[in-house]
Amino acid sequence: MVLVFVEATKGQFKKTAFEAVTYGNKTAQALGTTCAALTIGTDGDAGQLGKYGASKVYNISSDNLASFDSQAYAAAIGNAAQALGAKVLILNHNSTGKALLGRLAARLNAGSVAGAKSVPVVEGNILKVKKGVFSGKATAEYAITSDVKVISLAGNEVPPEETGAAVGVESLTVDVPAPKTKVLEVNLQAGDTAPLPEAELVVSAGRGMKGPENWGIIEDLAKALGATTACSRPVADTGWRPHHEHVGQTGVAIKPNLYIAIGISGAIQHLAGVNQSKVIVVINKDPEAPFFKAADYGVVADLFDVVPKLTEAVKKFKAA
Ligand SMILES: Cc1cc2nc3c(=O)[nH]c(=O)nc-3n(C[C@H](O)[C@H](O)[C@H](O)COP(=O)(O)OP(=O)(O)OC[C@H]3O[C@@H](n4cnc5c(N)ncnc54)[C@H](O)[C@@H]3O)c2cc1C
Repeated sequence: MVLVFVEATKGQFKKTAFEAVTYGNKTAQALGTTCAALTIGTDGDAGQLGKYGASKVYNISSDNLASFDSQAYAAAIGNAAQALGAKVLILNHNSTGKALLGRLAARLNAGSVAGAKSVPVVEGNILKVKKGVFSGKATAEYAITSDVKVISLAGNEVPPEETGAAVGVESLTVDVPAPKTKVLEVNLQAGDTAPLPEAELVVSAGRGMKGPENWGIIEDLAKALGATTACSRPVADTGWRPHHEHVGQTGVAIKPNLYIAIGISGAIQHLAGVNQSKVIVVINKDPEAPFFKAADYGVVADLFDVVPKLTEAVKKFKAA
């Protein structure tokens, strides 16, 4: 059996959860087995995971899992995988998946691949999986040779596919140790747009903005598009924007459908976190800015002139 662990936030599943279940279903088909989903602390809504190929959905409820603790979660998920006899365990390659993958691989004595981007190819008891390496500049193929395998799926690689109908949710009881850390408070500052790692549209700005007082034009464009805002590292380092908006090698790595880079030079460390975007639009007054080499569309212009015009054009287009 292939078991897919997915998270819900405030009872809602995100697109990445449906991607993981779709991936689990395709993996199960390649192996000639079934796919089940595993959730923690969700209600009946988890049954909708059946639409994406989970033939069963299991849910673990425990006070010890009330807030995220990687050791308690790894114990619960690992014990569930063993109780259900899962041979392949799939997670999303998000902050939760990154915290759990190594722990689960150690618990289950499993080989693992973090950030897979291809459906596994089955060769006997071996699964071959591809992932991006060197900041997405190359693709490497891995063979997982252990009996039990753990894979985390990179975002935006496998589009969710509805192939079935909702299923019932079965309660699963497993041993869960007391958490060693507890989340006391979560202070959400990102507003109501999609969090950066999952955003499909991103409007990002850099030092060319001259100062934080000018960010209104970036927020206006992002609002008109329904996009999430991001920034270059020096912008976050100098406190113009919050650190959670910093994208790049040392910030958040993103893979949106559209990345608009405004007043950003396109240093290699910035590109490392954004060059997987499907379409890149660069607005910069310097025609020699390195970012233009990575751009699908480029506008050589003063951003203070072009960004408000772009916002108006988006508004008009949406109103039409
Ligand atoms: C180890 C290491 C890790 C790093 N990690 C990251 C990272 O994760 N993310 C990151 O972003 N950086 C990172 N950096 C920093 C990176 O090297 C660059 O210094 C940084 O990305 C530059 O930010 P910027 O493009 O906003 O600023 P600048 O390089 O100053 O570029 C500003 C751009 O704005 C343009 N501009 C100015 N005025 C206007 C205008 N009116 N209209 C239009 N365009 C205008 C300029 O032509 C210029 O191209 C890292 C550096 C190191 C050494």
